[in-house]
Amino acid sequence: MGAEHVLHRTTQRPPMAVRGEGIYLIDEQGRRYIDACGGAAVSCLGHGHPKVAAALSEQASRLEYVHTGFFTSDAAERLAAMVAKMSPGTLDRVWYTSSGSEAIEAALKLARQYHLERGEKGRRHVIARRLSYHGNTLGALAAGGSAWRRLPYEPLLMDVALVDPCFEYRFAEPGESPEAYGAKAANALEREIARLGPETVMCFVAETVVGATAGAVPPVPGYLRKIREICDRNGILMILDEVMCGSGRTGTFLSCEQDGVVPDIVTLGKGLGAGYQPIGAVVCTSEVYDTVANGSGALKHGQTYNAHPVGCAAALAVQQVIREEALLDRVNSAGTRLRSLLAERFGNHPHVGDIRGRGLLQAIELVADRSTKAPFDPELALHQHAKADAMDRGLLIYPGGGTIDGRHGDHILLAPPYNVTDEELETIVDLLGDTVEAVLPS
Ligand code: PMP
Repeated sequence: MGAEHVLHRTTQRPPMAVRGEGIYLIDEQGRRYIDACGGAAVSCLGHGHPKVAAALSEQASRLEYVHTGFFTSDAAERLAAMVAKMSPGTLDRVWYTSSGSEAIEAALKLARQYHLERGEKGRRHVIARRLSYHGNTLGALAAGGSAWRRLPYEPLLMDVALVDPCFEYRFAEPGESPEAYGAKAANALEREIARLGPETVMCFVAETVVGATAGAVPPVPGYLRKIREICDRNGILMILDEVMCGSGRTGTFLSCEQDGVVPDIVTLGKGLGAGYQPIGAVVCTSEVYDTVANGSGALKHGQTYNAHPVGCAAALAVQQVIREEALLDRVNSAGTRLRSLLAERFGNHPHVGDIRGRGLLQAIELVADRSTKAPFDPELALHQHAKADAMDRGLLIYPGGGTIDGRHGDHILLAPPYNVTDEELETIVDLLGDTVEAVLPS
């Protein structure tokens, strides 16, 4: 009942999920799906975790909602303290949102306000990267470089300067060392700043590990450190979007810890609340916070559901489970295992051009020709066929591709829960192997 009233993403109504148990989702027919992607890298504890469910229920029955214009809550403060403790450097002030897109919107406004407080009114340009995804609200979409997602809305988008990403497999010259390539990729930012005029640029935004648009692309060593230097030299804020790759997904709370950099602002979402509640966050350094606090006093922004107590209680419980069960260690060991299973299965595959990722965010890229790296014709929409075929086999994978600039092919993203077992990883890669064989054009 009611099926015809929901506006679904596609014209076809998807199956109805009725229950989740650990790594499995179960539909109304009783079919079980092994969830190898947690939606879009969201469900980092799997489904139906009793401790998180209990925390939710306790918070909802004691205090379900307060408006942040009137009150704070214990859950919001305890979660912020935990996030601050887990984040590197002085990243220790947290602004809560209900989603990743809203976190990006708030981060951009915070960056703008930071410069205003310092009297630098001319700083208004955002520089971001092609083949990136920062969300679907208009500001976040403008900051993103996913060509097909932007296309219909292009006239509505604010002007954002886009530079090439750091994507070794697709953009490095043959034989170029990762260091040389990383320096070249970072220089694209330097050139764009010079073109716009440094005094007009407010921030640079990038995903630490690119997720939805290009499929688990980590930066080459040294790239983000170079970006940090360029931002510092030009008085520009560095915003890292860790909505997908943060919150432990790659084995450290923030993925950029592995690159040895601390951004001025980082955005979180997805794994922060593990899907138990919609919650995102902006975390900024004490320097950024103090500039606003000692200036006009507060961020000129706000939404009805900021710091929602039930959202914060859920995320707090998620982070507590991750700590109690030492799940970041498990992300590291399971990530290594997943990577070697993918290498065994696809390492010599003629149509798998690249296997890449970090921790439990891993992807394979499908190519028509491994030696030239030529992608399959986007019209084939192979990634969508792979998703459908895998679902028929009881496997959930996150597909990507369909870029209209021809710079990369179809990819399949895997983001299993942090508590995944080795046996489950084997099942995932076995089923994925069957799917890849089934969908490749003969
Ligand atoms: N940033 C990144 C890196 C993301 O992967 C996403 C979601 N895929 C977002 C922002 C937007 O988050 P949301 O869908 O929760 O608005």
